[in-house]
Amino acid sequence: MTTSRQLFEIAKKRIPGGVNSPVRAFRGVGGEPFFVKSASGCRLTTVDDDVLIDFVGTWGPAILGHAAEPVIAAVRETAGRGLSFGTPNPLEIEMAETICRMVPSVQKVRMVNSGTEATMSCIRLARGFTGRSKIIKFEGCYHGHVDSLLVKAGSGALTHGNPDSAGVPEALARLTVTLPFNNPDAIAAAFAANPGEIAAVILEPVPANAGLYLPEPHFLENLRDICTREGAVLIFDEVMTGFRLARGGAQEIYNITPDLTAMGKVIGGGLPVGAFGGRAEIMDCLSPDGPVYQAGTLSGNPIAMAAGLAQLREMERTDGWSTLEKTGAAFEAATREVIQGLPLTFQRIGSMFCLYFREGPVRNLQEAMGSDRVRFGKFFHGCLSDGIYFAPSQFEAGFLCTAHSAADIQQTAEIVQKNLARVF
Ligand SMILES: *Cc1c(COP(=O)(O)O)cnc(C)c1O
Repeated sequence: MTTSRQLFEIAKKRIPGGVNSPVRAFRGVGGEPFFVKSASGCRLTTVDDDVLIDFVGTWGPAILGHAAEPVIAAVRETAGRGLSFGTPNPLEIEMAETICRMVPSVQKVRMVNSGTEATMSCIRLARGFTGRSKIIKFEGCYHGHVDSLLVKAGSGALTHGNPDSAGVPEALARLTVTLPFNNPDAIAAAFAANPGEIAAVILEPVPANAGLYLPEPHFLENLRDICTREGAVLIFDEVMTGFRLARGGAQEIYNITPDLTAMGKVIGGGLPVGAFGGRAEIMDCLSPDGPVYQAGTLSGNPIAMAAGLAQLREMERTDGWSTLEKTGAAFEAATREVIQGLPLTFQRIGSMFCLYFREGPVRNLQEAMGSDRVRFGKFFHGCLSDGIYFAPSQFEAGFLCTAHSAADIQQTAEIVQKNLARVF
């Protein structure tokens, strides 16, 4: 059997950095990634035959755990009838109706193949709808690798120290105004400095690509009010939070109605899916009804729709969200007990969490950046050797799934305690 180390050597010869998405390369923590041969529930089995309790969940989609029976069955059953037709198929309607029912701000929705496509399309649509060019984003928020949005971005871009990517023309970057999160005065000032020019404000309502921090009271309401007053399109990027924090995502929890929402991850059940939707008046600007062009050969793919629908149905049937809240609360209690007295900040909402290696509070990118990444890296590798896979970067959120049991949480807390004792 070929080991992870050998595979990575071979991969690096043919794939840039040996990976198809940068954060997988482990540069944020040093060392080399492992290769997975199979996964089930909350456990990964590597090609080296190590079994790991997984807190990454393929970066969010695996909300029911890996290889969840209803999802796999739906994929098998649907695949037998053909993989893609390039014509309308009935599953697309079922998906659209499911999304509109779960997320009431979405009156019409279009399916795409990734979260990046979803945010990219939202930006173009907002520009087409308003006839304006500039957009506001927030430091540390990651919206996929869209040119205009790779300015002070989070996730892998942040981990690798280049939140501003090479290859993004300056002329385009100039149209992106970047502000600190949780600072309402900065938003008011940005609108005042760019009168009648802001097409859209895009944000992760719960930023989870620079670790995890929460919106302060009234921050989102205030943003909603300003956008309404200024005629700017408010875009919630719920690619990570959608269908995870609640059936209707963060907008349900905070009771805010955005104009457009970008979705992905959980709605694909592990297949490549994104979606964007919102007010019908705005969505009707899309081709073929309107002048804003957007398309996709594989968009609304039947296998992807079947997988996502099966996952959402199972979440509703079992009320997965309340299971996740209970698991999250247990995980939080166990973690708080073992981090007592250490200079660490644990933050959680529902099934998402982050342990920052610094004292709190952490409310924005700048505060997140003050974390001790060297110590985090040692802690990460210690946990990994003991069979716990946390995200390989201080700036990624952790994910719980419905398959994490009380025993898994207990075992994890013990290993966390042991490895904290080693690094402090
Ligand atoms: C993951 C993510 C994206 C990008 O989605 P991809 O499917 O990786 O293109 C966009 N926005 C947020 C908030 C994300 O977490």
